[in-house]
Amino acid sequence: MLAALLDLVLPQQCAGCSGPGPWCRDCAAVLRLAARTPLGRVQPDPVPAGFPRAAAAAAYDGAVRGALLAHKERGRLALVLPLGLALAAAVDCLQPPPGVLLVPVPSSRSAVRQRGQDHARRLATAAARVLSAEGTAARAVPGLRPARFVGDQSGLGAVGRAANLAGAFQVSSRLPAGALVVVVDDVVTTGASLAEASRALRSAGLVVHGAATVAATFRRWSHP
Ligand SMILES: [Zn+2]
Repeated sequence: MLAALLDLVLPQQCAGCSGPGPWCRDCAAVLRLAARTPLGRVQPDPVPAGFPRAAAAAAYDGAVRGALLAHKERGRLALVLPLGLALAAAVDCLQPPPGVLLVPVPSSRSAVRQRGQDHARRLATAAARVLSAEGTAARAVPGLRPARFVGDQSGLGAVGRAANLAGAFQVSSRLPAGALVVVVDDVVTTGASLAEASRALRSAGLVVHGAATVAATFRRWSHP
């Protein structure tokens, strides 16, 4: 009984490697390394129209992938800080000026209902705290919201994803016109979400300094 209860409160398997949990030393080291030596500038191929300059902390693989999934799908809050550190490192690669606003890519309303939380928003808040503590004042502002229903992105290619997302986001009045923003998300795949989020922000008069994610799925890196 106690063991079952404990497993509910404190998961026994590591989110990164299924070893002893909830988050083993080796996997913690992988995320720390990503935060210390982020990948830097990344670009999907093909590049979606309007894709901003972007940076990621790590490849979407192994412990990083496990941690992102456990955080997103299973609400493992213990992972917010290490993932936030990695996201902050990716933002830092873009050398944002102090006062930058981090704007998370919003999840669909149904996803938030299902998971009970908005994972990108939580990571943005954690990353803003880290950046501010390290001397670059930053604030997370959930300034985008879904404008309409968006179909499931999984299984769609680059072109399908871009079409599926066209006009998907609405800019809220929380964002002052002319503000400098970095779009943030947990992972970049085809780049369609980051491109569409940037397009919406630019057309609302915001200055998109770039986009940053914890991880990137594509293997072809571009290091301009
Ligand atoms: Zn592990």
